[in-house]
Amino acid sequence: TLQDRLQSAFKSLRGKGRLSEADIDAVAREIRVALLDADVAVPVVRDFIANVKERARGSEVSQALNPAQQVIKIVNDELVTILGGETRRIQYAKNPPTVIMLAGLQGAGKTTLAGKLGLWLKGQGKSPMLVAADLQRPNAVNQLQVVGGQAGVTVFAPEPGNGIGDPVKVATDGLAEARRTLHDVVIVDTAGRLGIDAELMQQAADIRAAVDPDEVLFVIDAMIGQDAVVTAEAFLEGVDFTGVVLTKLDGDARGGAALSVRSITGRPIMFASTGEKLTDFDAFHPDRMASRILDMGDMLTLIEQAEKALDTEQAAKDAERMLGGRFTMDDLLTQLEGIAKLGSMSKIMGMIPGMGQYKDQINNFDEREFDRIKAIIKSMTPAERDNPKLIDGSRRTRISKGSGTQVKDVNNVVDQFFAMRKMMQQMSKGGGMPGMPGIPG
Ligand code: GDP
Ligand code: MG
Repeated sequence: TLQDRLQSAFKSLRGKGRLSEADIDAVAREIRVALLDADVAVPVVRDFIANVKERARGSEVSQALNPAQQVIKIVNDELVTILGGETRRIQYAKNPPTVIMLAGLQGAGKTTLAGKLGLWLKGQGKSPMLVAADLQRPNAVNQLQVVGGQAGVTVFAPEPGNGIGDPVKVATDGLAEARRTLHDVVIVDTAGRLGIDAELMQQAADIRAAVDPDEVLFVIDAMIGQDAVVTAEAFLEGVDFTGVVLTKLDGDARGGAALSVRSITGRPIMFASTGEKLTDFDAFHPDRMASRILDMGDMLTLIEQAEKALDTEQAAKDAERMLGGRFTMDDLLTQLEGIAKLGSMSKIMGMIPGMGQYKDQINNFDEREFDRIKAIIKSMTPAERDNPKLIDGSRRTRISKGSGTQVKDVNNVVDQFFAMRKMMQQMSKGGGMPGMPGIPG
């Protein structure tokens, strides 16, 4: 399996003190073969390997990680990246109902997905409705009614018996019905063929044009292997889609389609199906999928801990330096970025007990202020950041232009900086900050 192959590739690095060019080439070659054998698309493999090599060469000798760990971390990071980085959530319409259309080959798992997604959306407090716009197969409407029944979700189906219906009309009628009955999400199931088919693609495109969906989800069987590329490209071209759903991940040991589809289409994988039961379904998490592919959960945890320990060490050193009066604009930037990482300011404030009474001020807090300060600091030269005393009038004008702000904004940041530095110097004279580890009193 891909897991085994990658692990044996990493094994060859064990015990090495540092990574030589030859080591990097050798491990890259092994990873390349492993990915190709797992049916990852050729251009995706090429880019992946190039990135891994570049990062392995450029990686500073990390104090926290040994060479094998460094490469594992790089491979893991790159896997997360090609799987899409962050989880992408459904974009709900400002004015409900949100329309989600499903497209994909026959047997990909669209109808099953309609039920799964319906159930999942119900769990998110939504009131979904399924629309049976697959009139191609005799049993398709009935199948949707069955999964809808299992999920406890309303199904809109065409009246039976008047010959071959018009799927576009069913889709628009279904949407109208959802509006009337105040369902806030509409999931439109569509027909698929066994292969790529122009007529069917046109039908999907017509349905898309008629219901103007907020999301078009391309449903793809993860076991499809190298065919993933052609199929995904055909649907991208023929219908276009906003996101991908991988199905039958339970049966796929190789991960090829999962690793290819995001890079090939530029569209995020949003959900994953992992079985025939309606509950075998969840939002797609690139990081979890990456660690599943690497199958090195314990090693990754170890790597994370090692890095965190180093971070803590670094933070303590930084704190010591700042309190020693050597506080720079870069430090200010790092602090701001640390705060930004925690989430939006209003969210942070909202989590602090007793802050509820300041709700209005919190809501009025201008998140863009953060961005402005960051832009200003980033427009300073390294010398200015290191020694802000250099920042005279003409430099302030230049910085304000560079950051798209006003001179008074730059003045504010510089003033704040000196105020903070002064505060720190006073703190250090006063014997340090009580209760903060790593800061000598
Ligand atoms: P559609 O033609 O795209 O609508 O595909 P269906 O929803 O009818 O699914 C085709 C077959 O795949 C059915 O037998 C499903 O039970 C099965 N199926 C769908 N999703 C999954 C999955 O995630 N895992 C497994 N093992 N089977 C699935
Ligand atoms: Mg179907």
